[in-house]
Amino acid sequence: MAADTLFRTRFAPSPTGPLHLGHAYSAMLAHDLAVQNKGEFLLRIEDIDQSRARTQWEDWIFRDLKALGIEWPKPVLRQSGRLNAYRNAIQSLWDKRLIYPCTCNRRDILDAASAPQEGAAPIIGPDGVVYPGTCRNYQHDVFLVPPATTLRLDMRKAIAHLATTDFAFIEQGQGTKTTVDFSADKVIDKIGDIVIARTGLGTSYHLSVVLDDAFQKISHVVRGQDLFEATKIHVILQKLFNLPTPVYHHHKLIRDKTGKRLAKRHDAEAIRKYLDNGATAGDIRKQVGLRP
Ligand code: GLU
Repeated sequence: MAADTLFRTRFAPSPTGPLHLGHAYSAMLAHDLAVQNKGEFLLRIEDIDQSRARTQWEDWIFRDLKALGIEWPKPVLRQSGRLNAYRNAIQSLWDKRLIYPCTCNRRDILDAASAPQEGAAPIIGPDGVVYPGTCRNYQHDVFLVPPATTLRLDMRKAIAHLATTDFAFIEQGQGTKTTVDFSADKVIDKIGDIVIARTGLGTSYHLSVVLDDAFQKISHVVRGQDLFEATKIHVILQKLFNLPTPVYHHHKLIRDKTGKRLAKRHDAEAIRKYLDNGATAGDIRKQVGLRP
C-alpha cells in the first residue's frame, strides 16, 4: 500500500490537564483500529492555547499513553510549531475575501443574537452561539495579521464560493458505515460565521485540526461523539482548502457514575489515578468497554 493511502488514525489531546478515562478510550480505540488495519497511529499535541498548555501535562500524556500500551512515531507534531501553515491558510481565505475581522466579545454576541426577539434563546451551534453578523459588513481592506484580531468565516460567501448546496462525510463505526448528508442552508442557519482565528491565538481549533489532519494524512479520524456536529465545519473547511475529507468515527462518550461526560477537571477519573492505584492497561480497557 502506498504511504499516503495508509489507514492512519491519531489521538490529539490538548496538554491542559490530566487525561481521563474518556481520553484513554479514544486513544486506545484509535490505536486498536490502526493496528487491526495494519496502519499507523499518530499522536498530535494540540497546544495552540499557550496560556493553558503546560509541558508538565504533555509529559503526563506521554507517560499515561505508554502505560496503556500505546506506541507512536516520534517526534510528535505540536500545533505550536505550525503557526506559519495556519497563517498561510488564513491569508488564502483573506485573499478570496471569505473572512472578516470581528471585534465582538461574548456579551455583544449574546445580546445581538437575542435581540430580534427579546428574550428568545440564541441558536447554539458547534462553534458556540451562531454569530449574529454584527461585524460582517464593515469595510476592511487591510489584512489584520493574526493574532492581532479575531477573524470569522463569512459562511454565506464561503458556500457561494464552493458552489454546492450539499455536503457529506462518511461515518464508520464498528460494523457500520453511513453517509451523513447536510445542506448549505443548515450550515448557514445552525453553524454560521465560525471563528477562523482567535485574537491572541492566530488560529482556531477548527482551522488547525483540519489542516493538521490533512498534513498528517489521517485517513480515519477517531474522536468523541461530542464533535459530531463540528465535523460539518471541518468538511466545509476541507472543501475551501481543497483537502480530502477523512472517514470519521465518532465514538461513545465515557461518563461518570452520575451520567455526566468526563472533563479535564474530573481529576477523580484521571488515568494516572487508576494506574497509581495498581490498575493495569487491561483493567482500564475493561473499564471503558474495550476487549482486553
Ligand atoms: N484537542 C481536541 C480535544 O482534546 C481534539 C479533538 C479532535 O480529536 O478533533 O478535544
